Amino acid sequence: MEINLPKGTHDVILDEARAYEKIETLFKAVADLYGFSELRTPIIEATELFTRSVGDSSDIVRKEMYTFKDKGDRSITLRPELTAGVMRSIVNNKLFATQDLPIKVYYLGPAFRYERPQLGRYRQFNQFGVESVGITSPLSDAEVIMMGYAALKMLGFGHITLKINTLGDDESRKAYRVALKEYFGKHLDKMCPDCHERYESNPLRILDCKVPEDIEIVKKAPKISDYLTEAAQESFEFVLATLANFDIKYEVDESLVRGLDYYSHVVFEFHYTTEAGVSLGALGAGGHYDNLVSELGGPALSGVGLAFGIERIYGVLENDKLLQDVKEETDFYVMPLGDNALLDAYMIAQALRGAGYRTEVCFENKGFKTLFKRAEHKGSKYAVIIGDTEMQAEQVTLKNLKTQEQITVKYADLIDKADQLFAVEDDHDHH
Ligand code: AMP
Repeated sequence: MEINLPKGTHDVILDEARAYEKIETLFKAVADLYGFSELRTPIIEATELFTRSVGDSSDIVRKEMYTFKDKGDRSITLRPELTAGVMRSIVNNKLFATQDLPIKVYYLGPAFRYERPQLGRYRQFNQFGVESVGITSPLSDAEVIMMGYAALKMLGFGHITLKINTLGDDESRKAYRVALKEYFGKHLDKMCPDCHERYESNPLRILDCKVPEDIEIVKKAPKISDYLTEAAQESFEFVLATLANFDIKYEVDESLVRGLDYYSHVVFEFHYTTEAGVSLGALGAGGHYDNLVSELGGPALSGVGLAFGIERIYGVLENDKLLQDVKEETDFYVMPLGDNALLDAYMIAQALRGAGYRTEVCFENKGFKTLFKRAEHKGSKYAVIIGDTEMQAEQVTLKNLKTQEQITVKYADLIDKADQLFAVEDDHDHH
């Protein structure tokens, strides 16, 4: 019986996996350029970690978590995002005491949300993200945005929309919350049941409501910009000025509040529309937080983070044919001609692999036509041909599959010859 994937999950297969690898490698390289180091946390965490950080009033915690009791009766959750785990780790390991501030880390791995699957939306998806913790300067906020922007440019995106907003400091949000309660209080009878709950737990969440009738009411709601303290306003303007200084275009979008409760000050999202006019939603998103570390039992350190969705990035890059060179490539394809040659062929392949050359070898006695087809499928640069005549002379025929030139090489000289050929190739690459 064939067994299907759980709804909302997907396999990443062959060329696609190579593309993921390429995207992830580039993200890591750019994060490294900007001084971030990797931090890996478990996929399972105590449920309380997310109710405390992502927040009781967020859709993620209310409806989307994969939560279960383990055999020891502990409530465990598959992480719906990776920031909370990173903060827990920073607190548990007291990194703020042993590392210079800001602590700058990146992460990569799967996250799980029980959402309605649709284009660009999965129940298991991969996030790459960074966190910079321990410095209050808006320069730190700007740096994370600039890193994200640089990574998207390096991946080949020609145009990106950066939407940005501020949620102000605690004081700004307190005043804004009062204004929202007053406004929505007058309209609540016409709004959805979720909004009734949000009205009590966190009226800011109402701004994120997707119900069409509610969106109309939200449009006329008070704006955060009218409730910012002077300090919050200044900090936001500093971030915007820094971005402008580095030629990063942005759109201030006052409807942007983000789905997680821990943000304050600047929040942002990166968007991209394909040539065919398709948008998969935000490619990446993040923001500044003030209370996250202290909420998890650490000192009062603020931070800023950003997370990209690998599936969405791959989806739009693939759509617009922005991904190149992800076909399989090997250096050598070793071809035994006849059953006698199988063992020698395998020995030669092992020697080439041992010397660091990507090598594939045929295990069967196949005709020339098939062997060359397979070499082509493997994206091989050279064919190493071994038949009875070659074996007797302890040599191989080495064929350049691009130029079709061929030479004979003694078994004993093969690695030296390979080094020579690939040194010449490397040399060409550099010019
Ligand atoms: P968030 O943690 O909600 O701020 O999401 C950060 C990024 O993760 C988004 O911009 C998406 O690219 C990606 N993402 C979030 N949820 C999903 C999902 N259900 N499926 C695929 N990607 C997602």
